[in-house]
Amino acid sequence: WSSLSFPWTKKLEVNNKTIFGNHSFRPNQREVINATMSGHDVFVLMPTGGGKSLTYQLPAYICPGITLVISPLVSLIQDQIMHLSQANIPATYLSANMEWTEQQDIFRELCLDSCRYKLLYVTPEKVAKSDVLLRHLEKLYSRQLLARIVIDEAHCVSQWGHDFRPDYQGLGILKQKFPDTPVLALTATATSSVKEDVVQALGLVDCIIFRQSFNRPNLQYSVMPKTKKCVEDIDSFIKKFHRDDCGIIYCLSKMDCEKVAEKLKEYGHKAAFYHGGVDPSERAYVQEQWSKDEINIICATVAFGMGINKPDVRFVIHHSLPKSIEGYHQECGRAGRDGQLSSCVLYYNYSDYVSYCENDVDCRRLLQLVHFGEKFDSGRCGKTCDNCSKVQSFIEKDCTLIAKQLVELVKLVRQQFSAAHILEVYRGSLNQFVKKHRHDSLSLHGAGKHLAKGEASRVLRYLVTEDFLFEDVKKSDAYGSVSSVVKVNESKVYNLCAGGQTIKLRFPTST
Ligand code: ADP
Ligand code: ZN
Repeated sequence: WSSLSFPWTKKLEVNNKTIFGNHSFRPNQREVINATMSGHDVFVLMPTGGGKSLTYQLPAYICPGITLVISPLVSLIQDQIMHLSQANIPATYLSANMEWTEQQDIFRELCLDSCRYKLLYVTPEKVAKSDVLLRHLEKLYSRQLLARIVIDEAHCVSQWGHDFRPDYQGLGILKQKFPDTPVLALTATATSSVKEDVVQALGLVDCIIFRQSFNRPNLQYSVMPKTKKCVEDIDSFIKKFHRDDCGIIYCLSKMDCEKVAEKLKEYGHKAAFYHGGVDPSERAYVQEQWSKDEINIICATVAFGMGINKPDVRFVIHHSLPKSIEGYHQECGRAGRDGQLSSCVLYYNYSDYVSYCENDVDCRRLLQLVHFGEKFDSGRCGKTCDNCSKVQSFIEKDCTLIAKQLVELVKLVRQQFSAAHILEVYRGSLNQFVKKHRHDSLSLHGAGKHLAKGEASRVLRYLVTEDFLFEDVKKSDAYGSVSSVVKVNESKVYNLCAGGQTIKLRFPTST
């Protein structure tokens, strides 16, 4: 698709430079444009920042007629239209919360032979709910002026994707109604099952697929142990490597966003927070301040990101574990869109690794709320989660001995090893790492051998979350790598070891 010469080849070259200001094409851009302009349905998998917009905006500019673009968020659409207007390309959008008179003006313009718009953006809700829109598209189509249909963020069609949106499923109607208009589906995240889903749901015919490597060579990834001093660590990281740079810190809860932003401000950074609980005008303000570099750092939930087009984001920090590897890739992908070296740092700790799935005892609601820093007073929902509704009987076990042994073991290995390793030794593992450090000769090696699966790890996690033990960073070995180690909180442990405290945990009785 790239080496062939097409009637429009010259025009592409020229307009890419003069209108869009690009010196050349990025990987796959020319190929995608040639395929869609040849009239084929095309599916494009291109990483964030790869330059997907050009693959439909350039054809929209040089082809007669109007290009319909379906895009999930109004903020994303407005951002695109702003960029297009800077390039003097007339574009508009329709969304459900627009004044009716304003919508009518746009519809009227669409009926004109002299219609000035080259692109019409709509949200998928609009396609699903507006008969007026469909009627106007039909008119354009019958006048052969519906040049192309673009589905942006096409993975939203698929239930397998991480961002499923029900309104996307109805988009198959477009191909049914307008079979001769080529469809261009764009996404930055799609596994092959998602791709199959998208192609099927949209009814794409003999679809040409472009798939590009997700490797982002200019991003530097690292995982750092997360300690109680996490925000201090973030502060010194930024001051050391990214002073005055622009970055995003992803936090799990709204409360974390606010706390982290507050602390960073105390440390002298220009930081702000952004989450779903902040009202829209304030959010828009923060986003604008950020694009103008008035604010350097945004502490945000994953609500922040889609539609962020800032090319010079130099770091993306995950203050807690991302929800999925796809989500992680997408969030990191917001760094370094300009191709310059950028950092992606994930702070990880053992207690963040809440074993939501592994846990078959505690109320799911409680686990989630605790995760988001909330309290759930009743402790259990009673029956609206699988763990509560399993007619379970519990026994309360005295775990004091296990707890003491684990604390003792942490001391025996001189507080220099990870939680996972402590468990290995306690269960009597003879793996190479255990042997290398001769931990198989410790008195407590295998002391927890008889325990049911998960029992020791539940007690250890309890000790960490209740502060008997804490995680710290060990800057170690000749290579200067860092690792997470478990240490003992002496003041808290004193009572336990002196025999003044018992620890009781609930376990399900086997059925
Ligand atoms: P995507 O939608 O794939 O995440 P965009 O279309 O937003 O990526 O493009 C990312 C950035 O790359 C934008 O700033 C855009 O102007 C720029 N860009 C796109 N194509 C080219 C090109 N051929 N040459 C230079 N810059 C480009
Ligand atoms: Zn429950």
